[in-house]
Amino acid sequence: MSGVSTFINQDGATIFVCTDHGEQSCPFCCLMFSEINNEARQEARKRKAIKPPQTPLGEGLLISGTEVRMLDRSGENVPPNHLEGRIGGVLTEKDEESDFDGMECYVVEYGRRNGEVMTQVMTYPVEWVHEEWQVKTNGQWVSAMKYVKLFSGDDSDNDDDM
Ligand SMILES: [Zn+2]
Repeated sequence: MSGVSTFINQDGATIFVCTDHGEQSCPFCCLMFSEINNEARQEARKRKAIKPPQTPLGEGLLISGTEVRMLDRSGENVPPNHLEGRIGGVLTEKDEESDFDGMECYVVEYGRRNGEVMTQVMTYPVEWVHEEWQVKTNGQWVSAMKYVKLFSGDDSDNDDDM
């Protein structure tokens, strides 16, 4: 009989190992938890980066709680199936499996609402959110780039002098 044990890592992820050897993937116990453990680690890391609403995340960045959406440009859905969510925080992606590995990313909460909490989290590069996504302000969707420029003030003038 091969037993399974769990422990909670520093980010709060539940990690599975075999009881006998403490291995995530154990040929003796025929248990393979590496993949599910990695997903749990990534998810916990994202959730840990989420700040309370209205927290500044850094210069030129959207504040937490900002409502955002990624436009559905596939043309396959009527009406379009935009992904709506909320900025949660920011982190540098560290996930070899991810296309965004090493990039500065927003943590975006999205999906079904469970009270005030959205049930899913994803990361998406800051730069691309600013270039491609929209932000809801005063009930209107505007391009994130326009919005970021608006509230980051007069710095944009300097860029033009380059
Ligand atoms: Zn084992």
